[in-house]
Amino acid sequence: MRVGVLGGGQLGRMLALAGYPMGLRFVFLDPAPDVSAGQVAELRTAAYDDTDALARLARDVDVVTYEFENVPVAAARTLAERVPVYPPPGALELAQDRLAEKRLFEGLGIATAPFVRVDSERELAAALDGLGAPAVLKTRRLGYDGKGQFVLRSPEDAGPAWKALGGSALLLEPFVAFEREVSLLAVREPAGATAFYPLVENHHRDGILRLSRAPVPRLAALQAEAEAKAARILAALGYVGVLAVEFFVEAGRLVANEIAPRVHNSGHWTIDGAEVSQFENHLRAGLGWPLGATTPVGWSAMVNLIGTLPDTSAVLAVPGAHLHLYGKAPRPGRKLGHVTLRADAPETLDARLAVLGPLVAG
Ligand code: AMP
Repeated sequence: MRVGVLGGGQLGRMLALAGYPMGLRFVFLDPAPDVSAGQVAELRTAAYDDTDALARLARDVDVVTYEFENVPVAAARTLAERVPVYPPPGALELAQDRLAEKRLFEGLGIATAPFVRVDSERELAAALDGLGAPAVLKTRRLGYDGKGQFVLRSPEDAGPAWKALGGSALLLEPFVAFEREVSLLAVREPAGATAFYPLVENHHRDGILRLSRAPVPRLAALQAEAEAKAARILAALGYVGVLAVEFFVEAGRLVANEIAPRVHNSGHWTIDGAEVSQFENHLRAGLGWPLGATTPVGWSAMVNLIGTLPDTSAVLAVPGAHLHLYGKAPRPGRKLGHVTLRADAPETLDARLAVLGPLVAG
């Protein structure tokens, strides 16, 4: 079986690495010639709107998925006329628009922060007046890793915020004073069977994910609620594959922030820390194969390597450390790899994290 993948970044690379043991082969399509997945699988360099390249991809593979949520929906739809594409292009389209995401949450009775659509400076002032400061102005499209966001601390920030983001379709929401950020990795196969990993606790800095931990005992009480919410989203979208749902925990309640229709950075710990990883389960789902167990193996923490690479020997000397490098050149703010730490007990994990921390500061 051959799997076509739109996007050739690290998520694609880890999909291929998970698929090879099951006998799968991969063809990646990406506009850039030197992407991470190209080091481990066939890479075709072409624009996403190159109709010849799309036609050739559809001809050469059995199924297509994507590892990048900003691939043009038109490319997914063109492919879907000829070959199964998962997650469904409709889910991709929805996840590309924060307003559509928020409306989906509302329609399904899933709590989310209030929001106001903003298309002009006048609307921004009115929205800020209504919601009050602090608030977060976000672009509806193409935001990732905190890009396309502006935090407004007072009404005077409306001008600078508009200067920074005005011109794009926008959305204003209150700044959520969350206790923590969590995500749920969910997976659904075509016949409707679903599986869920334990809730992951996520820590961001400058809008970029730095640390994820799972399982987290204090989150167990929220697991059933998170699964029920994700199940409604999966069913509503007729979803196939892995879906990440990001939540804030505010006053002990889950507040949905956004979804990602793909394997997700907060699920990387599953490679080493779960019975079957998010990558393998995404492939199993798309191929209509039975889903694998999402049971955690011990306690895991995933630390992103951002901007600079650590000393390999030093990292590998930490007990329970698993190093994953993406083959990317160092650049400030760039995700270059991650380390998963595993331990048999939460206290041991904390001790190992304390040793790893100074080695991966960046
Ligand atoms: P997002 O692109 O929506 O996932 O936002 C990236 C990060 O910005 C989130 O993980 C939060 O840490 C922060 N953030 C986004 N929206 C809000 C909000 N309404 N209130 C507080 N923090 C937010």
